[in-house]
Amino acid sequence: MALGIRSKLPATGTTIFTVMSALAQKHDAVNLGQGFPDYAIDPALIDLVDAAMRAGHNQYPLMPGVMRLREAIAAKVARLYGHAYDPEREVTVATGATQAIFTSIQALAHPGDEVIVFEAAYDSYVPAVRLAGATPVTLPLTFPDYAIDWPALAAAITPRTRMIVVNSPNNPGTSVLSADDIARLAALTRGTEILLVSDEVYEHMVYDGARHRSMAQDPELAARSVVIGSFGKTFHATGWKVGYALAPREISDEIRRVHQFTVFTVNSAVQHALAEFLREPARYEALPAFFTAKRDLLRAALAATPLELLPCRGSYFQLARYTQVSDEPAHEFAQRLVREFGVATIPLSAFYQDGTDHRVIRFCFAKREQTLLAAAERLQRLGA
Ligand code: PMP
Ligand code: GLN
Repeated sequence: MALGIRSKLPATGTTIFTVMSALAQKHDAVNLGQGFPDYAIDPALIDLVDAAMRAGHNQYPLMPGVMRLREAIAAKVARLYGHAYDPEREVTVATGATQAIFTSIQALAHPGDEVIVFEAAYDSYVPAVRLAGATPVTLPLTFPDYAIDWPALAAAITPRTRMIVVNSPNNPGTSVLSADDIARLAALTRGTEILLVSDEVYEHMVYDGARHRSMAQDPELAARSVVIGSFGKTFHATGWKVGYALAPREISDEIRRVHQFTVFTVNSAVQHALAEFLREPARYEALPAFFTAKRDLLRAALAATPLELLPCRGSYFQLARYTQVSDEPAHEFAQRLVREFGVATIPLSAFYQDGTDHRVIRFCFAKREQTLLAAAERLQRLGA
């Protein structure tokens, strides 16, 4: 029966993460595709949730988030990036970074506005822009560095540009914005009303002595930015879906107007637990060393294969170019790796609206050592 339904996202299928995880299950493959850990979270965090539930934190918390958690987030950001967000008005707890990003874009981008998104891009940005009725303007990051092409950005900015979505450390590119990059971004947008949505969910996953630079650190950019974080990423609990949006009052007010009608509130017990857990900075300060070991283990284990490993500076992903093995398109190659080798990855072409294909696949290394070694072991046959 014709129901007259017109899709709001006609060009969008099921996300690549869902597709590859389902395929991995079907073929009993080692899943280094979708970005989630396969190891246990800190039992102390579980105890804190248990305690919060037993203490009665089981009803709707305040709409913008449990105050203790907003205070803990503000304290952490002040400590790390030197910017004091007001927990009362400028910190909003969301159902994961995805909802924080989605809600920010719905609240701030209007039909007729252009929103610049750099590709390869996390796949939720462009659909969020489309659902807001705004126009996505996609710009390729350079290859193979996945850096911002500054002249291209300068050329893409128009009087209709409302927002630029930036993501550092970058998924999937693994690149990290430098102080110089931030200065260029400030120079290019100086004197405009262009807002920045700064997806910083991998803020604690920066390697080799480099440091994450938050938009919160630069007063000029912070005044026009929404800074996005994710506890799912930081504390290895992606299934809990708790993140946040930080923004100056005027921007936060608009985000909250929409937030209250998308989810209204976020899991109360988990928020109380996170507030307590965040008090100990060592819990996130340990992450670079923790993930450097995993990155290096995976790289060493793949070194004997014909895959060309690209540098990994941030996030928990490792990219590999496979042109020495095959000239198949990345989505075909990735599917064949699952079927024939029992290893699931993500084809980078999925992160481009036009399917740009540099013949690159992405491995997630937020996995147990045995999982990483099992995947690499299966890939030793590549090119044989
Ligand atoms: N942004 C990026 C760049 C991501 O990779 C992810 C997911 N891993 C998210 C946002 C979403 O985070 P969350 O699970 O907290 O919604
Ligand atoms: N962000 C995760 C990744 O890049 C996946 C999130 C999702 O499945 N939507 O793998």
